[in-house]
Amino acid sequence: MKAMRWEGQDQLRLVEIPRPQCKAGWVLVKVMSAGVCATDAHIIHGTFYNGEPPHVLGHEIAGEVVEVGDDGLQAWLGKRVVVETAIGCGLCEHCRSGNKHLCAQGGEIGFPPYNGGYAQYVTVPATCLYEMPDAMTYDEGGILEAVACPVGAIRRIGLAFGETVLIQGAGIAGLSFLQAVRACAAGKVIMTITRESKREQAMRYGADVVVNIASEDLAARVLQETEGKGASLSIDAAGAPQTITDAVRLCAARGRVLLYGLPAEETLPPFPVTHIIMRQLTVLGLTNNEMGWAPLLGMVARGEINVRDMVTHRFALEQLPQAIELVSRRPDALIKAVVHPWASETA
Ligand SMILES: [Zn+2]
Ligand SMILES: [Zn+2]
Repeated sequence: MKAMRWEGQDQLRLVEIPRPQCKAGWVLVKVMSAGVCATDAHIIHGTFYNGEPPHVLGHEIAGEVVEVGDDGLQAWLGKRVVVETAIGCGLCEHCRSGNKHLCAQGGEIGFPPYNGGYAQYVTVPATCLYEMPDAMTYDEGGILEAVACPVGAIRRIGLAFGETVLIQGAGIAGLSFLQAVRACAAGKVIMTITRESKREQAMRYGADVVVNIASEDLAARVLQETEGKGASLSIDAAGAPQTITDAVRLCAARGRVLLYGLPAEETLPPFPVTHIIMRQLTVLGLTNNEMGWAPLLGMVARGEINVRDMVTHRFALEQLPQAIELVSRRPDALIKAVVHPWASETA
C-alpha cells in the first residue's frame, strides 16, 4: 500500500509498504479521508516532540472497515467509520469512564508506535470506532477529531441557556467551540479575530459580536457588550499568553474559564491568581475529551453542527507536503485540510 512516511525534520516520503495485519480486537480501515492537523506539521518541522521517525503520522481518520482481527468483530465489516485517536488499556478507571486519553498506558493512533492515516490502510482497535451516519461524508468524518475535542470540552464544562460566551481564537477549535455553544442555546457570543478577513467565518458560524483585537480594545468591548459584567463562560482557543490572561480577566464574577489553546512552555503567561480568587472563578483545562464523539455524530447528521463547510482544502496523499505547508502557513481561507489516500489529484 502507499503511505506518506515522516522520515526526519521536514522530510516526508511516499513509500510502498506492506498492508498492516490486524490482531484480535483490531480492524483494518481503508482510509478515505484524513484530516491534516497542525500538530503533525509541528512534529514534521521538529517543533513538537512526540516520538521518533520514521513513522506514518495522521490521527484524524475516516474510512471503511475492510478486515477484522477476530470473529467477534464481524459486524464492523463494510461499515463507514470515524476513528477516535486515544487507544488506552480499556481496564483502568479513566478508560472505563470515557477518558482513554488519561490512561497511564496511553497510546494514540497516528503517533509512534502506532501508524496513522497518511496511508491507504491503517489498523485500529475496534474500541476506537464510531459508525458514521449515512448523511455524513468521509471528509466530514476525516476532520471530526478536530471538532470532537472542543465539543467534548463544552459537554464537560456545561452551558446554561442564554449564558454569554467569549471565544478567543477563530481557527478550527474556535469555530468548533462557537458551533458547540450555539447548539447549547448560548446567549450573546463574542468572538475575537486578528485579521479582518476572518470576520465572515466567525459571523457565518454564529458569532453575535466579532472583535478584531488588532484594531479594537477587547476588554472595553467585552464590558460594553456584557453590561460591565464580563463573559459567563470565557474560552481561550488561541493559547497565547495575552489571550489566556484576557480569558481570566474578562470572565464574569463566579463565571467559568475554559483553557484549551496550548501556550509554548517558554512563554507561559503570569497567572492572575488573585483575580481568580477574588472573582470566584472556576478555571478548567480541557483537551481530547472522548465524551464528545457520540453526541457530535448525531448533531452533524442532523445539521446542528456544520462540519462540511469546514473542509476547505483537499489533497491527494502524494501532496501531503503541500498540505503541511498550507497548514503551517495558515492562510485565512483555510479552516481544515484533508488528504485522500486513494485519489491521484487534488479534488
Ligand atoms: Zn490533531
Ligand atoms: Zn486505561
